[in-house]
Amino acid sequence: MPAPTHAKVIIIGSGPAGLTAALYAARANLAPIVFAGHMYGGQLMLTTEVENYPGFVDGIMGPELMEAFRAQAERFGSIIHNVDVTEVDLAKRPFVVRTAEDEFTADCVIVATGASARWLDIPGEARLRGRGVSTCATCDGAFFREKHIVVVGGGDSAMEEALFLTRFGSKVTVIHRRDSLRASKIMAERALNHEKISFIWNTAVEEVIGEDSATALRIKNLVSGEVTTLEAQALFIAIGHDPNTGIFRGQLTLDSAGYIASDDGVRTNVEGVFVAGDVYDIRYKQAVTAAGMGCKAAIDAEKYLESLETHHKAAVPA
Ligand code: NAP
Repeated sequence: MPAPTHAKVIIIGSGPAGLTAALYAARANLAPIVFAGHMYGGQLMLTTEVENYPGFVDGIMGPELMEAFRAQAERFGSIIHNVDVTEVDLAKRPFVVRTAEDEFTADCVIVATGASARWLDIPGEARLRGRGVSTCATCDGAFFREKHIVVVGGGDSAMEEALFLTRFGSKVTVIHRRDSLRASKIMAERALNHEKISFIWNTAVEEVIGEDSATALRIKNLVSGEVTTLEAQALFIAIGHDPNTGIFRGQLTLDSAGYIASDDGVRTNVEGVFVAGDVYDIRYKQAVTAAGMGCKAAIDAEKYLESLETHHKAAVPA
């Protein structure tokens, strides 16, 4: 049987939000189609130990958790494609969702496209990406055994990356633009107390230096204005994320930061299009909150589809 190209529900995204939406939609017998993206699983695929997802007393590895999410969604009939959505048409009914190869339609859409790591946008960064510059310690950390590794950022991601990178680097330096951390107390303390990690405060990285690979960073003290060169073979950037909303621009209302706007955190400005997870949530950005939002989106999508059917029946004369 050919794979279906129409679904009652299409879910775009396969992090905790998308796959929880898929689980609930599948259990409601809606056989959702999920566009998981070519790098399925969302940001937890790029993380190591997840210690704060409830139910895992000793923690669980991010990729392992996402494999379980996926298997559970598939168990109840979700159809998951590991391809990217390139375009949507949310003005048409049914909604149209396109990939590079195919066109799909849906009565309702759940947007759970998450967010992507932010870059510093400094000279040398793009040129040396993959050759010393990275946003993913779990992906690239092992390339820098016994090297000096720098991490930029002061949030939980930066602390997590720095702690993870201590397994490889001869030393790890965190460079932060202020003099205090944004990270949670527990993560901050772990990093501050780690013997291999040191901190450079009130400082910005202004350039990555190196021919074929990174060899040093030009850094500027934001208080004194002093510019110096710091020898380092790796720069891991952990300065937050931007929402993946490019394909929805002009079709869904976005807020000033580019996140999908929603009055209740579930519905968008287009009836029948729902949102879940980091693509909406600028505040909490946790796997467990994303999963909760995915559940809400699927339940509301189901109610919406029911209301469509009731409407349709009422419109058809007996
Ligand atoms: P975040 O909390 O937004 O922190 C971003 C950090 O990068 C901030 O310290 C910020 O500086 C700095 N920054 C932003 N733009 C910069 C720029 N252009 N140049 C230099 N520095 C810049 O982002 P996150 O660390 O990715 O965390 C996001 C969310 O995920 C948070 O809610 C966090 O709790 C959660 N998370 C949790 C865990 C965990 O619990 N294990 C792990 C990872 C993430 P300022 O402080 O000056 O703004």
